[in-house]
This record gives sequence, C-alpha cells and structure tokens, in this order.
Amino acid sequence: MPTTGVTIADIDRVLERGFPQLRFPAALEARFEADTGAKRSRFLLFSGIITFGIFDLFIFRDRLLLSDIFETALIYRLGIITPLALASFVVLWTNPRPWIRESMEAVLTVLIAAGLLYLVTTSRSPMAMHAHYSMLLILVFPNIIQRVRFWYALSASAIVITMYAFGIPHILLMQAPIVFGAVLLLTTTTMLSLIANWMLERDERREYLVGLREKLRAQNLMVANEALSAISMLDPLTGLANRRRLEQFVDTLVGSGRSATKPIVFMMLDIDHFKRFNDHYGHQAGDNCLKMVAETLERNLRVGSDLAVRLGGEEFLAVLPESTLFDGVQIAERIRADVERQAVQHDNSPTAPVVTVSIGVAVVKPDGRLSFAEATMAADEALYVAKQQGRNRVWPPLAGSENDERHPARHAG
Ligand code: GH3
Ligand code: MG
Ligand code: MG
Repeated sequence: MPTTGVTIADIDRVLERGFPQLRFPAALEARFEADTGAKRSRFLLFSGIITFGIFDLFIFRDRLLLSDIFETALIYRLGIITPLALASFVVLWTNPRPWIRESMEAVLTVLIAAGLLYLVTTSRSPMAMHAHYSMLLILVFPNIIQRVRFWYALSASAIVITMYAFGIPHILLMQAPIVFGAVLLLTTTTMLSLIANWMLERDERREYLVGLREKLRAQNLMVANEALSAISMLDPLTGLANRRRLEQFVDTLVGSGRSATKPIVFMMLDIDHFKRFNDHYGHQAGDNCLKMVAETLERNLRVGSDLAVRLGGEEFLAVLPESTLFDGVQIAERIRADVERQAVQHDNSPTAPVVTVSIGVAVVKPDGRLSFAEATMAADEALYVAKQQGRNRVWPPLAGSENDERHPARHAG
C-alpha cells in the first residue's frame, strides 16, 4: 500500500493552497484512501441497507398512485433495484477501490431514477403525476447522507436531472407550467445538495489532513525522543554506556529474572597513574587514552549481553550477566593484558613504561538478590586490592598465576 512518502511539509502545502477539486497529490490521495477507504465502504454498506428498507416501503405508495402498473412497480423495486443493491453491498463488503465504490453508488442512483421515470410515464393512472416527487429523495440521499464523492455525485445528478426534464412531460395530464416548476425545484434542490456535498467532502478531507499532520508530528517526536534518550544513555567521550544506562540495564536484568538463576560478574576497572599521565602528556592525550581503554574493554566483552560503562573520570565498570567468577577473572585478565599490549607510552608511571589498568572482579551469586550497590562495592574493594598489590593486575587473580598468593575469591550478594 503506497502509504509512505507523505511529510508534514506536504500536508502544510496542501492545506495552505486548498484543494477545491477535492483531490490531493497522488501520494497523499493514496494515503487518504488507505486510511479512510475501509470505513467509508462500511458506512455506505450500512446506510445503504437502512435506505433500501425505506425504498421498498414506497411499494405502498406505488400501490395507491400507480395501481395500474403495480406489478411493474414490484418488479422495479423488488426484482431489479433490490438485487442490484444487494450485489453492491457484497462489493462494498470487500472494500473495493474508490472509483468502483463511488461509481457503483452513482450508477445505482441513475438506475433508481430511470426506473421511477419509467413507472410514472407509463402509468395511465391520473394520480401518477404525484409520484415523481420522490425524485428529490433519490438525489438528496446520495448527495447529502451518503456523501457520494463530489464528482460522482455531480455526474449522477446531471444525468438524472436531464432524464427528468425530458421524461416528466410524458406523464399523463402533466401540464407545461407544472413541468417547469418541477424541473426548477429538482434542479435547485439538487444544486444546494451538491454545494453541501462539496463542503462536506472538503471538511472531511481537511479534517483528515489535520489529523494526519498531528499523527506524523507525534511520530516524529517519538523518533526524536528515542534518539535523545539513546544519546542521554551514552558517555560522549568514549561512546560507552553511562550510569543512567547502567541503572536501566540492571533493572532489566532483575526484571527478566536472569539474575535469579545465573551469577552476574561486576568488573571495576581503573587506569593506573592516570593523573601522572595527564600531567605529563596533557588532557587531550588523556582523553585519547580513555578512548583506547574504552575500546579495549568493549572489544573483550560479549556483544549484546555484556555492558561496559564509563562511571566517570578514568573509572569503568563492566557487567557480565550469566558468568562465573572464574569467567570474570579470565576476561578481566584478557582486558588487562590487551591494554598493556596497546603499548601507549607512559614515561611518568612509577610501575610500568606503558599505560596499564587494574581490575577488581566480584560476582553476584545465583541465589543472592541482585544488589547493584553491594556488587559494585565488592568490585571496588577488589580493585583497591589490585592497586595495593602493585597495579596492572586483576583481583582476585587467576588460580596458579603469579598473583595467586591469598586467592580471596570475593563475592557479593
Ligand atoms: P591510581 O593508579 O591510583 O588510579 O592513580 P590515578 O592517578 O589514576 O588516580 P586519581 O584518581 O588520583 O586520578 C585520576 C585522574 O583522572 C585525575 C584527572 O586528571 C583524570 N581525569 C578524570 N577524568 C578525566 C577526563 O575526562 N579526561 C582526562 N584527560 N582526564 C581525566
Ligand atoms: Mg586511576
Ligand atoms: Mg580513579
């Protein structure tokens, strides 16, 4: 369905210029139909059902005024028009294309009018000259109640008035002044109903445009909001998540129930002697170093499931759901070694010739309730130990590694 490609500017332009011909530019017209067509078909269907009840009630009028051709009247109403109307209901049920839908209503109007003219002109009843008044109803109903789209309504009305003007002089006992008065009445009434029809369609279309513009504005706003909230979740320097995103992430972990079944690793990472690095190489080099560490951290985590956060300054936190302490320490060791391997010179460091990091690891046990504060505090304590032990290391250390002296596997939760 061609419903895309309509912008607020397009709508503004159409509203500003107006649309006296009751037609939008192609893309907008297609969207208008896509949005309103089904509802309109349903309206025509139900209003049609009610009206055909009324139409068939006129059988009693025919019985009284056109008694000599009553059988023909029955065929006209029940044998021809009613089955055609039923067929049109079936078509309307399938939500047909607009031109089929509207021309069907217009053709039905012309056929009903033609049938009535045939009856009143063939009847030999002296009262037949009072049966043609219902032509007013035959035009006013589609023009004002059904609001058949203007150009279709105009065409049907013109055909019916022409047939009427040529037809009614043949009614028995009909005199010229009465013909004149009747044609004048039908023409003026129909013209008024067409003016109403035009205004109703214009208002319907205008209302649609205003509504669509509101809808598009709301959509644009939502997209902008989503983009904004995505940005507000990021640290501008490194592109890592920030604290706000971290809180959201932990909330979803708790909400998903994953924290109840699988342990979660918290990793606190801090650059060693970063103040000295800044002092020696300047703030810009410091920023580049922060980016290097952020990239290295992220590179060593699982995409999608783990989260790397810049807590502020030169402190980072990584959250690894569904990981054991052993996994966490291994990954932390990989990150530490990876940073060292980047070999960013750090002449001002008393502990290593290059930039290094220390990492503290803690785990929230499967049965423990996830306490974000406790977990980060435990990771922070582990980091403190790593710094105390001489920096450029992970705490607790991997079993069997050179730092494995006390092996106090710290747990939180
Ligand atoms: P330690 O090994 O004990 O962690 O020593 P440190 O010097 O890294 O730790 P400290 O907390 O004393 O210093 C952190 C420094 O990080 C202080 C500040 O100069 C620097 N810093 C904090 N935020 C930023 C930042 O956004 N950009 C830059 N370039 N430096 C930052
Ligand atoms: Mg530091
Ligand atoms: Mg620090």
